[in-house]
Amino acid sequence: MLSYRHAFHAGNFADVLKHSVLTLVLDYMTRKEKGFSYIDSHSGAGMYQLTDSYAQKTGEYKEGIARLLSAETQQATPQALQAYLELIREINQASSNDELSLYPGSPGIAKALLRRQDSAHLFELHPTDIDYLNDFCQRWRKAHVKQSDGYQGVLSLLPPPSRRGVVLIDPPYELKEDYPKAVKTIIRAYDKFATGTYILWYPVVKRELINEMEKTFTAGQVKNLLQVEFCQRPDTEEYGMTGTGLFIVNPPWQLKSQLEEILPYLQTQLKKGQDTASYKLAQLVAE
Ligand code: SAM
Repeated sequence: MLSYRHAFHAGNFADVLKHSVLTLVLDYMTRKEKGFSYIDSHSGAGMYQLTDSYAQKTGEYKEGIARLLSAETQQATPQALQAYLELIREINQASSNDELSLYPGSPGIAKALLRRQDSAHLFELHPTDIDYLNDFCQRWRKAHVKQSDGYQGVLSLLPPPSRRGVVLIDPPYELKEDYPKAVKTIIRAYDKFATGTYILWYPVVKRELINEMEKTFTAGQVKNLLQVEFCQRPDTEEYGMTGTGLFIVNPPWQLKSQLEEILPYLQTQLKKGQDTASYKLAQLVAE
């Protein structure tokens, strides 16, 4: 089943959390001269047009990235968010006008930050998005795009030759199996490459599914696991995503304090109507 299209959701509050963390992690990796591998199991299209009918139909970006960009003048933006916001601004300035019309997916963030000595391995299954992704990567010599299963793809590439790597696992969760499968893939990947940084994205739709993910992680061998969650609304039994989170294995040492700066800001800027937004930041497994 491949009905999910990220174009409907690009730039929403979940992308804001995921991509601001990805920016901080990749920025940290580029502080050492030695190259690294970036592996993206579920890449999407690479870049999104916020003016197209998909983004306009849901308008989700208006409650995500658009709010943060327009809030910037009203309240001091946390230092830790600056690099991410600057990246979005630069991409839009480089296009035809200054308006917010483009939003980068995870490959777009990586393309902006990776250097000549770094390589990107991008997996995507959807027949339309793989074409967009191939177009997007056309002049990016160190990008390797594959239309194949990203879970297997991650495992096939570990450990990377440089022994330095960042893996993003960002499934659509159309199928419930994605929840346990994503965690098990990280546990298997960690077995092959324990010093890599792994970022696993999840939506908060049914709390029990997240509780199960936490249990599987804490029962396994993975060490140094940070969990961050931002919820626009309280949990509900009704359908729909109320929040979003990330499990991060081997995060850069300052990521936790950067998130301590970012989360209260998201809480005030990205709340939904009268609902109370909340967040969680926890070292789920010690180093
Ligand atoms: N990582 C992207 C970003 O941050 O911009 C968004 C990815 S989106 C949430 C999930 C993508 O995974 C979809 O484009 C979908 O077509 C693709 N997909 C679904 N199952 C897959 C699989 N087994 N392997 C690779 N890609 C898959």
